[in-house]
Amino acid sequence: MVKYSDKFRVEEGNTVRLDKIDAGFKNKYDQTSAQVEIERYTKRLRELQYLLYAEGKRSLLIILQAMDAGGKDGTINHVFSSMNPQGARVYGFKVPSAEEASHDFLWRIHQAAPQRGQVAIFNRSHYEDVLVSRVHDLVPRKVWKKRFELINDFEKNLVESGTHILKFYLHISADEQLRRFKQRIDDPARHWKISESDYKEREHWDDYTKAFEDALGRCSTKHAPWFIIPANHKWFRNLAVSQIVVEALESLKMEFPASSVDIKEIREKYHKAEEEEAAKNGKNGKKTERKNSNKAGLA
Ligand code: ATP
Ligand code: MG
Repeated sequence: MVKYSDKFRVEEGNTVRLDKIDAGFKNKYDQTSAQVEIERYTKRLRELQYLLYAEGKRSLLIILQAMDAGGKDGTINHVFSSMNPQGARVYGFKVPSAEEASHDFLWRIHQAAPQRGQVAIFNRSHYEDVLVSRVHDLVPRKVWKKRFELINDFEKNLVESGTHILKFYLHISADEQLRRFKQRIDDPARHWKISESDYKEREHWDDYTKAFEDALGRCSTKHAPWFIIPANHKWFRNLAVSQIVVEALESLKMEFPASSVDIKEIREKYHKAEEEEAAKNGKNGKKTERKNSNKAGLA
């Protein structure tokens, strides 16, 4: 079995060249065979998330970044929807509000960081502040350059306090992006996804590529790695992401916490309550009454 966490991880300190990475990679899979694996992994993901929630000691932060139409929404929908909403939240980061913009760039991010026992999924993130901010000169060069270090320190702080961080760059080619834009035009159910800025941003493809290469290279650390996921095939993307998340959660060796009660004692209490209930029902015939009323209710 290919371990995608090894294959797609950006090694700390490496220079990233996205044009050298095949966005159409699919290993030996086709859609049908990939689907079988995806189902297996997402089922396991649900179990592991339940364990994370029960254990209540650690948290998981998933960061998704991509070019427009790169598949962030689809990944959330197909991979992470298997999780129990009680323990998982998705945060989308858009253009900062006036309040957000009047704080440091990590302020809004830190507030969305997951509590112990919880999973947070970031649809875009603080990386926008070294991507869009850089490509569109929203801040001076010396400001965004300093941010790589600030981001690494920030993530380190989260990790030190028990958060496991996994960052995914969904890598699509420029022609795949155009194909997806066309699908959006052709399918009325996708029209709402079209935005003027998609085409405007596409003109900056090379600048974004450069900005992503720097961000992935400079902010992939042992404690908070980046993975570059070939994402032209949506099913391969889902397979790779789900495998990496499952493997990471399994490596945490989580355990259900010991019960806070004496199970033997509780069992005795239960039996006593059961006997009392039976005696009560036997005495005044409530059991039959209930059965009858149930039947009446159903009829
Ligand atoms: P997406 O395209 O992620 O699926 P969407 O289409 O629902 O989301 P958009 O408004 O198109 O929403 O995307 C969010 C926009 O917010 C992007 O253009 C992104 O670059 C921008 N954005 C996010 N964070 C920042 C930031 N810190 N500074 C400036 N712009 C930002
Ligand atoms: Mg958009």
